[in-house]
Amino acid sequence: MSADEKKTVRIEDENDRWRFTCPRGHRDWEPTNHHFWCATCARAETVDGVFHELLDQRTDELYARDEVQLLTPVGPYDRDLDYRETKA
Ligand SMILES: [Zn+2]
Repeated sequence: MSADEKKTVRIEDENDRWRFTCPRGHRDWEPTNHHFWCATCARAETVDGVFHELLDQRTDELYARDEVQLLTPVGPYDRDLDYRETKA
């Protein structure tokens, strides 16, 4: 899958923070290496903070971790995933 086919999410951009949420609609999530993690869900006793698909509030679509290209102000977040050919 090339970067062009991925959904770009600027994880520190205010508009994208409002648009992309955890499946329960929270905005205080963070990416992890293979999943996402939501601080609000983690505080709920009955729910695991880890989640696997970002919810696009505009389209109601869900995006798995490998279907999004996460961008930070200093460049792509997914260095490991972008250079997977270097993986043993
Ligand atoms: Zn949440």
